Amino acid sequence: MKKFRMAAWLLCFALILGACGANTSGQSETAATEPVSETAGAEQTGTYTPGTYTASAQGKNGAVTVSVTFSAEAIETIDIVEHQETAGISDGAFDTIPAAIIENQSLGVDVYSTATYTSNAILEAVADCVTQAGGDAEALKAVPVEASEVAGALQDSETDVLVIGGGGAGMAAALSAAENGARVILIEKQASLGGSTILSSGSFNHVDPDQNAEKEMTESRAEAIEAYLSAEPMNEEHAALQAALQEAWDEYQASGSTAYFNTPECMAIDLFLYGSGEGNAELILNFTRNATDTYLWAAEVGGVDWNAQGGARIINGIEATCLGMGVEIYTDTRATELLMEDGVIVGAVATNANGESVTIKTSKGVVLATGGFSANAEMRTEYNTVWEELDESLVAYGSAGSTGDGVIMAQAVGANLVDMGFITLKCESATGQDIAHGPNCYSSSIYVNQNGQRFVAEETQATDEIGLIKAVLDQPGQIYYMITDFAEAESRGYTLEDLAEMVDNGYAYSGETVAELAEAIGADPATLEATVASFNESVDSGEDEFGRELWVNKIETGPYYAVPFIPYVHSTLGGVQINTSAQVLDTDGNVIPGLFAAGEVTGDIHGKERMGGNTIAEAVTYGRIAGASAAAN
Ligand code: ADP
Repeated sequence: MKKFRMAAWLLCFALILGACGANTSGQSETAATEPVSETAGAEQTGTYTPGTYTASAQGKNGAVTVSVTFSAEAIETIDIVEHQETAGISDGAFDTIPAAIIENQSLGVDVYSTATYTSNAILEAVADCVTQAGGDAEALKAVPVEASEVAGALQDSETDVLVIGGGGAGMAAALSAAENGARVILIEKQASLGGSTILSSGSFNHVDPDQNAEKEMTESRAEAIEAYLSAEPMNEEHAALQAALQEAWDEYQASGSTAYFNTPECMAIDLFLYGSGEGNAELILNFTRNATDTYLWAAEVGGVDWNAQGGARIINGIEATCLGMGVEIYTDTRATELLMEDGVIVGAVATNANGESVTIKTSKGVVLATGGFSANAEMRTEYNTVWEELDESLVAYGSAGSTGDGVIMAQAVGANLVDMGFITLKCESATGQDIAHGPNCYSSSIYVNQNGQRFVAEETQATDEIGLIKAVLDQPGQIYYMITDFAEAESRGYTLEDLAEMVDNGYAYSGETVAELAEAIGADPATLEATVASFNESVDSGEDEFGRELWVNKIETGPYYAVPFIPYVHSTLGGVQINTSAQVLDTDGNVIPGLFAAGEVTGDIHGKERMGGNTIAEAVTYGRIAGASAAAN
């Protein structure tokens, strides 16, 4: 659907009704079972007992409460009464799902692809209301949904630059290509822009010269720099980064400055070492040396408000600017193939929002910004070299759009793929909430497996995350529970009421005793009791079989709590190989004319692990480079 043509009148109508009827008087506590309208006690003569009913269901961040009004034969209005979902991510679900339910009188509507939890919560809560009103929710799930024709769908087109993918890299590429005078079309296969970028914290690592100027240089920093420089290089790339750092360090020392020494060369070597020395020095330096300027550009040219929260600040800011510059943005539009003529990329084939195949011809180039392949279980299994086994059932942490399309399309035109085996996992709360994480989070918590047994020194999480994940993958069900007691939770600012609410919402389990907690998580009570008792003895003795070294508090003050954690496929670090102009290289190292790439679809930069804060910074920095290169082509 073309962005600036958006909604059908029906959708607007439903939203207006929704807004007017919204009741935020906190009725969600009792609402799930009680009809709340005056007419609700009426006889059921038709499909429903007319009236207004409310119900809640679990969304991404908490309960989503809806209020649904029924006539005898139809669902008339759906209001979102209360929710804690993230603005900018869940909006699409709130805008489209209730309208689609009403339009189709069906609960079989598709979830909104970038907000699946929110979508499912709305559907579940409305289904609950249907049941309360005497309707048949199961039957409504089977009612077919008409795919409505999208008026503004992309047709066969010609443009200068086509950007495929609307995450951080793609948005930056579109902006930069437009800024450099190109006509730009951006296509995004999901219903809304953002990809994994919008789901992230939006952190953007870069060196801030002003901040350095305010800080004094320290002796320990100088020693750290010297240590970086004198380390035995692990390979040529490392030596190249050391040489770059040496040059910057010599220059700094010759200048007589007493300001804190932190340059893009420092950032580069940190990135390289974090990735186990697998990245390409030239690409890394090109990123770190352009990151600061790109950060400022995103705000000044792109309209990004760096004071706003989350990855949405990048997407929303640049989207508005791009639309103002005449960039055409089409969502629900998926590129399927790159077009090559005489060895040059001249466009792509895509499936538009109506499911029709269309051709976009480009005079300057195509930018691949399709993200990674963490949501493509088959590709993960095929390429993974880091993990012994990568179960297909593992959930992707980022966007459902990360299915490796760009890699597949680029490979078909001869692109070289690099680092494809490097896939990162991360253990995160399975419920999206947490009680004891944060500084010193292990002081009085333990990790137990589904059997109620410890399996690791908990502080490994901070020192060797890969080691922890490998240990988790060996546990039954590949799950662990962080067990903590009320004393620990209270020390982190939680009251008994907060905790009870978390348990009610399904974010955590609790028990007055350890045995009760074991029952709540489905573990053997005697085993968990023995585990906790043994841990408490270790707090006294200062040792255990796992080599834990952090001994602070016992777990002995009920109630007791457990939060489940599971490994997610966090991101993929391999992809197409590019040069410093973001041109895609073929398997002989030659540029594929007309093809550019940026962001998670590329490889050879981060190595085996991507440092937090570098993901978005690198995607936007290379996106900007790719857009400018394409426009200049
Ligand atoms: P990056 O950080 O590299 O920008 P993101 O995951 O944020 O990566 O964004 C990539 C975007 O590309 C996602 O929104 C995804 O849905 C989109 N995408 C992936 N494959 C295609 C495709 N074949 N056609 C259009 N968009 C695509």
